[in-house]
Amino acid sequence: MRKIVLYVSVVTLLVGAVYFLSYGQEKENAMPVLPKENAQPGPLQGYTILVDAGHGGYDGGARAGVSKVWEKEINLQMAGQFRQALEKAGARVIMTREEDKAFADKKRPDLDARLQMARDGQADMLLSVHMNQYHSAMESGPQVFYRKDQENSRLLSGCIQAAMISRLQPRKERKAMAGDYYMLSLDIPSVLVECGFLSNPEEEKMLLDDAYQKQLAEAVCEGVCEYFALKSTEKME
Ligand SMILES: [Zn+2]
Repeated sequence: MRKIVLYVSVVTLLVGAVYFLSYGQEKENAMPVLPKENAQPGPLQGYTILVDAGHGGYDGGARAGVSKVWEKEINLQMAGQFRQALEKAGARVIMTREEDKAFADKKRPDLDARLQMARDGQADMLLSVHMNQYHSAMESGPQVFYRKDQENSRLLSGCIQAAMISRLQPRKERKAMAGDYYMLSLDIPSVLVECGFLSNPEEEKMLLDDAYQKQLAEAVCEGVCEYFALKSTEKME
């Protein structure tokens, strides 16, 4: 009798183990680490771009003066628009976040987690989405930042800044500028896009508007395409 009980339990264990292993395998296949290759043909086909919606979770970022909406929420909407525009142009897009969350309860490890996503996803480019604010309501206009001494990032920021000026025709035309942001510390071309000022009521209204968000995202995408076009002619020369 004891032998039979032992036999039955061993068989049960074995069957369980085999089931567990194959199930684990299946689960792994169903959830690839990288997002699916984007099949859409376009000028950005073959490029992987990390889009980072700045802030999130405990870190709200700036706050809109009139609507009181947090920057983290507008960043998320805008990052979604970036994704749509870039995918339409053929890029493979990785998002750092698509919901309201932080990756750590302190700033530095939170940013480290985002940078690691760019490494893990073998991103060719990093775009970090933010909204600006200033103590005076007069300041306005989108502005792109790059890291000093990063020539490719400087070129990219110039392409995006020019496309935003020509497409959006902001009242105040800002220049792309060097900025000391930890999010810009990778070797791939990386820029931080300050889409506009939440401290300016007029611009706040625009930044919350779906149609304006789309326009801005398309301008950024045009700048990205221009950058890769310039780099590819550089390679041919
Ligand atoms: Zn911000």
